[in-house]
Amino acid sequence: MVVRQPRIRKRPVFTVQKHAASHLHYDFRLEIDGVLKSWAIPKGPSLDPSVKRLAVQVDDHELGYADFEGVIEEGHYGAGPVLVWDIGRYEPKGRQNPKGMLEQGKLEFLLQGQRLRGGFALIRLKRDPRHWLLIKARDEEARSGFDPTREWQTSVLTGRTIDEIQRESSIARRTTAVTSSASQSAKRGI
Ligand code: MN
Repeated sequence: MVVRQPRIRKRPVFTVQKHAASHLHYDFRLEIDGVLKSWAIPKGPSLDPSVKRLAVQVDDHELGYADFEGVIEEGHYGAGPVLVWDIGRYEPKGRQNPKGMLEQGKLEFLLQGQRLRGGFALIRLKRDPRHWLLIKARDEEARSGFDPTREWQTSVLTGRTIDEIQRESSIARRTTAVTSSASQSAKRGI
């Protein structure tokens, strides 16, 4: 007898990376069609359903970037420290196809993160197709008057702040420089 296995598909990933580039912003990313569709949110997400946050669509990123935390080196695009502010999985609302919702300009989904939970919507604005609004749905996870970016400043992966990530990276660079000059001195017999 052939037992048909139910197709178990993992829910797609979402991530929010706090990024202190030339301007501080939060990169909100949803896995759609094997890439991370990405929006830069200057003020970050809100849990208050009456608050609409501008989300500017930016370049797709590879899936592997979802848990990137560290410092983007000077001279590269987006130079500055990045921390994983939230990460988890999401579910498209009503089992709709996320790609279809993206094309329609109205993406509705449920987030299962450590900080962001429940329903959210990304709505594309007509005047500029790159401009969207991120809005919290009115549900039991909504918290009016609550600003999560003020409340939570650390990485959900390492507990570090943006300043700590920046500092640890410059210490690591100095240590590498000192070690390599010390080993060169050793080689030269100094
Ligand atoms: Mn960014």
